[in-house]
Amino acid sequence: MARYTEAVCRLCRREGEKLFLKGERCFTPKCSFERRSYPPGMHGKSLAHRPGRESDYAKQLRAKQKARRIYGIYERQFRRFFAQAEMMHGQPGPNLLTILETRLSNVVYRLGFAASRAQARILVTHGHFLLNGRRADIPSMEVKVDDVITVAETSKDTTYFKNLRDEAEGRTVPTWLARDLTNLSGRMLRNPERAEIDGNLNEQLIVEYYSR
Ligand code: SF4
Repeated sequence: MARYTEAVCRLCRREGEKLFLKGERCFTPKCSFERRSYPPGMHGKSLAHRPGRESDYAKQLRAKQKARRIYGIYERQFRRFFAQAEMMHGQPGPNLLTILETRLSNVVYRLGFAASRAQARILVTHGHFLLNGRRADIPSMEVKVDDVITVAETSKDTTYFKNLRDEAEGRTVPTWLARDLTNLSGRMLRNPERAEIDGNLNEQLIVEYYSR
């Protein structure tokens, strides 16, 4: 499946909750989910009034799809992350969430350098960031404890990054990261705790989905 680039608001309506995929717009009355909180499609409205009983498989699939959509990851790559999580020390569910949170594009988003994960991915791909002083343009790169992310010197003069200091001011940074807005840089202090990751994800159902 290609990455979903059109009508991402449909994904929120499909999942029955706001996934915050569009940055600032998600917090305004323009949010599609605020206006139409029923599933997309011709029969969406009537389906909303007949929720029915979901099978275990349907619940597992929805949990996996939701996580994949929030982080904007292809199925094949998501499956690869799960395999990696299974090989790590500890439980695969929390391990998977740590892998997802510590991807470079997600850390850029968490640092408030982008309004959404989708925007962070584009900024990374365009080579605007350095990881420990070296150009890093692969969104899925793993960020480790003590790694430093910096906006590239050549990018600091662009309008986007000139305005970023003011815009990022109001974006809260989780305590597992430290941000230096003056120098447009950030450091990963430790791995995120489960409570610091989106609470609405159900990693246990994702594990069950891949363990069928
Ligand atoms: Fe989802 Fe954001 Fe679109 Fe609202 S504006 S439906 S939260 S992506």
